[in-house]
Amino acid sequence: MKLPSSQEETQVGSYFVANYPPFGSWKGELLPEAEAAVDRAREGAAPLGLYLHIPFCRKRCRFCYFRVYTDKSSRDVERYVAALAREVEIYRSRGTFASRPLEFAYFGGGTPSFLSERQLLGLAERLRRAVSWDGAREVTFECEPGTLTEGKVRAIREIAVTRLSLGVESFDDAVLEENGRAHRSGEVYRAYRWARDAGFAQVNVDLIAGMVGETRETWQHGVEETLALAPDSVTIYPMELPWNTIYARSVLEGTLQVPDWRTKREWIDHAFTELERAGYRISSAYTVVRGPECRFVYRDALWHGADMVGTGVASFSHLSGVHFQNVDGFEEYCAALEAGRLPLGRALAPTRRQLFIRELVLQLKLGRIEGPYFRAKFGVDVLEALAEPLRELAEEGLLELEEDGARLTREGLLRVDALLPLFFEPEHRGARYT
Ligand code: SF4
Repeated sequence: MKLPSSQEETQVGSYFVANYPPFGSWKGELLPEAEAAVDRAREGAAPLGLYLHIPFCRKRCRFCYFRVYTDKSSRDVERYVAALAREVEIYRSRGTFASRPLEFAYFGGGTPSFLSERQLLGLAERLRRAVSWDGAREVTFECEPGTLTEGKVRAIREIAVTRLSLGVESFDDAVLEENGRAHRSGEVYRAYRWARDAGFAQVNVDLIAGMVGETRETWQHGVEETLALAPDSVTIYPMELPWNTIYARSVLEGTLQVPDWRTKREWIDHAFTELERAGYRISSAYTVVRGPECRFVYRDALWHGADMVGTGVASFSHLSGVHFQNVDGFEEYCAALEAGRLPLGRALAPTRRQLFIRELVLQLKLGRIEGPYFRAKFGVDVLEALAEPLRELAEEGLLELEEDGARLTREGLLRVDALLPLFFEPEHRGARYT
């Protein structure tokens, strides 16, 4: 058997599996399904989360594939923030939050901390008139360290954020410069101190393994610096090169090489080992945490089928069993909301089998799947229904079969996204995640 993971060179294309079925099968003509899902949401019983996308950045990182803008005026930003608040108000008026308190909220980007203190407080005030997150188990806010001031960190805490995530990515200034990051390491230490002083329940450090110019020495230094800061959790993603990145062009032209997959796995393994030695525990293929309690409420909820209203340009939602995505153009997004319409772009109503596969592949990223969970929720015996791919992975030493479930080995966990297409329906195995 040739596993999809046997390609070691970092080639252009998406690696990370964020959802199922892949986005290519979501269609504009299926939007009536999304509208009906919004109308049904008030009766939903699954935990509910809210994602708010702030698509602005000071600079575009050369590996970035997100919908972000680096050239918008402060008027554009104000217009966008008003549209975002309007979107949440429309969901409220359609009853989405009526009987369902938020389990989690997530300010992601882009760079949420790009907003000024005034814009941030104004946005939060308007949003909270439409939906409260005071009782949420977790409210996350992503930050680019160089955009923070002490006052802004305090303002973020004031709006009841519990989890501050710092996009550090590397502690080496030359690596940050080469990869087009806007911040430098000095700003990380400063921001971390402010975050600690402000008293967030959780401060997270985000790293990327395999940035251009990173070496074994700079990576190990970054792991040491992370340990010295002692954050509550650390996220580590391997660098990938989707088609729409600046670096993808250089790789295709043959003028750039990035660390290969074997190297990236070795570096993540090294980080995991050092963090475990310091008392952290691995909680998924990309995360380590300190202490016994769950530090990634949004992730665990989503990977177990929670609903999420995704607001902002190009944001993804999952509501009442339907996937949908907002339009991905700034003007189109703002104009729809100014006209009082939800800015929906494409949708898909997955079959029950597809919802099962979705949860299975997402939960495999946690390193373990449990038979009783899937029997109770989908009436499916995982070990029987997926006997063949599970056996193949076990033969390769990537997975261990258990009495009523399966567990990825460390080697399997480190390459999990490359393994997941084995569980897809045949028509989705070669699909691009864009
Ligand atoms: S800060 Fe994040 S979202 Fe912004 S350009 Fe860099 S990688 Fe993309």
